[in-house]
Amino acid sequence: MRCTKCKGTAQVEVRRHHTAFCGPHFLEWFEAQVDRAVRRERMFTPQDRVLVAVSGGKDSLVLWDVLLRLGYQATGLHLNLGIGGYSQESQEKCEAFARDRGAELLVVDIPAEYGVGVEGLAQLTGRVACSACGLSKRYLFNRVAVDRGFDVVATAHNLDDEAAVLLGNLIAGNVDALVRQTPVLESTHPGLARKVKPLYRIAERETAAYAVLRGIDYVLDECPNSAGARSLLLKEALNLLERDAPGTKQSLYWNFLEKVRPLLRTASEPVALRSCVHCGQPTTAEVCAFCRMTERVARKLQSRVAVSAARREPVAASSGGGGGPA
Ligand code: SF4
Ligand SMILES: [Zn+2]
Ligand SMILES: [Zn+2]
Repeated sequence: MRCTKCKGTAQVEVRRHHTAFCGPHFLEWFEAQVDRAVRRERMFTPQDRVLVAVSGGKDSLVLWDVLLRLGYQATGLHLNLGIGGYSQESQEKCEAFARDRGAELLVVDIPAEYGVGVEGLAQLTGRVACSACGLSKRYLFNRVAVDRGFDVVATAHNLDDEAAVLLGNLIAGNVDALVRQTPVLESTHPGLARKVKPLYRIAERETAAYAVLRGIDYVLDECPNSAGARSLLLKEALNLLERDAPGTKQSLYWNFLEKVRPLLRTASEPVALRSCVHCGQPTTAEVCAFCRMTERVARKLQSRVAVSAARREPVAASSGGGGGPA
């Protein structure tokens, strides 16, 4: 296989575009694809401050890398989810990446801020881990962006992610989520940041190739809570289609964006947002879902402390009196 540009040996094949590239020309093509998406969808300009959500995985570090190389003002935001060694390694990868490039990285440590990690938040409120995690990410990315005056939040959702989410939303008939599924989600409230997905035209295997060719050191392990996730099943199903019909994911997602979503948008009612009475973040209720979750957790943690303190008291009294168990 030969590079379409220089006829040298190709290293990466892009089957859905019937093309292949050597290493340097693949990197050039990749960066041009991302820049075209940013400009075409008017995501941001070089004057804007972009907050990039970085997990330490390949897609988010690739996004941060390519935006910095293209000359955009990209600051990373990492959330330490408190998931044991996985979270520790993820944060270390983000810090090393930022250090090597002299880039700015912000970190929110969820266990330090809220007493427990996302698994604890879930356990204490009767949710599954991914639900508490998703809610925390949506809230904290938005809050940091608004509080620190960023123009936009960029996430690393790629074509595979978007096609799988779309398929899941179609199966579930989730019209509200379908209306919100777009590469640029405009702000509809002063406390709501714009959200963009600059990798929406890029396939997952292309971000993997970019990471390898650029020598990006990312966390290889998946989050332990991702095992058996439905999104992986949907991705597998789409990969099966893509194998025999290259371009299926692209057609599914791009046709949705161009032909289906505009119809849904005109038929849907805009959601009225107000400010959470506790934190001021946009919500449809009096108190936002994140405040409800973290306040419930704080109450449970306080009552645990009170119970364990009460249990310790008789022991202290008995040891003070010299009559402890033998
Ligand atoms: S798989 Fe892990 S990182 Fe992803 S949403 Fe679930 S808990 Fe969060
Ligand atoms: Zn070439
Ligand atoms: Zn709130």
